[in-house]
Amino acid sequence: MQRGLGIAGAAGRMGRLLAEEAAAAQIVVVGGVDRPGTELFGLTRFEDISHLAKSCDVIVDFTHASAAAGHAQALAESGARWVLGTSGLTAQDEQAVAAASSRIAVVKAANFSPAVSLMLALARQVAAALPADRYDAEILEMHHRQKVDAPSGTALALGHAVAAGRGVALDAVRESGRDGQTGARRPGAIGFAALRGGQVVGEHTLLFAAADEQFALTHRAFDRRAFAAGAIRAALWVASRPPGLYGMDDVLGLPAGLAKA
Ligand code: NAD
Repeated sequence: MQRGLGIAGAAGRMGRLLAEEAAAAQIVVVGGVDRPGTELFGLTRFEDISHLAKSCDVIVDFTHASAAAGHAQALAESGARWVLGTSGLTAQDEQAVAAASSRIAVVKAANFSPAVSLMLALARQVAAALPADRYDAEILEMHHRQKVDAPSGTALALGHAVAAGRGVALDAVRESGRDGQTGARRPGAIGFAALRGGQVVGEHTLLFAAADEQFALTHRAFDRRAFAAGAIRAALWVASRPPGLYGMDDVLGLPAGLAKA
């Protein structure tokens, strides 16, 4: 990386850790952007993401979904690479990200923890091996009380991995937030349940429940640093990549498409 890194959302919980992890990896942090009136913890504040991007090789962005489409346009024009961790993107936002990736290299992941990337790869393999008519797939997640979207991006990525393993589209089989007279579980459904409370950083369990046995994969993040360290790893990796939309599976060198989050 020649010029260094810029942090979008530098005043946030992730932004602060990203600056620390970048420093630990001896990467220059050129500066940051955040909403007016926020504290950037000693980083140089830039007027907006376009100005920041002109001075950086890579922008690491953990902000808010409402910022994603604007960032996509600004970064595609600036030429800076983009590590995007923000969750809760709409289908339109996803399109804007995909359009930007035809001009710049983008690493996007619902979860930058390397262990979660492996969990996604395993989820797909297990789902392909255990027949959907015998093994009911349920995804349970818990996060801190401030989280604004549900199910989490990681839970949805697990759902997509299970659906891919079973050769179906998640939207066709998804069952979320059951309440009241729901009727019996649909065969082949992929169920989601979201808990919110306290300061839980992120817990995900993928359960395959049959009549005679259960199999579960669980990941617990105790510290956001797991995500920040993974995002800095992605920033170093993407700095020299050609335009395209990449995932943590690419960063980690996992078999193609297995762990796309
Ligand atoms: P946070 O609220 O602590 O920080 C977000 C920061 O972004 C805030 O300082 C806010 O002022 C700023 N911001 C919001 N809109 C902005 C805009 N338009 N321009 C500039 N700055 C803006 O939240 P957080 O816990 O740091 O998480 C941020 C995002 O990252 C969330 O969407 C969260 O779900 C996601 N996240 C993803 C991963 C992952 O591994 N992919 C891990 C943790 C969090």
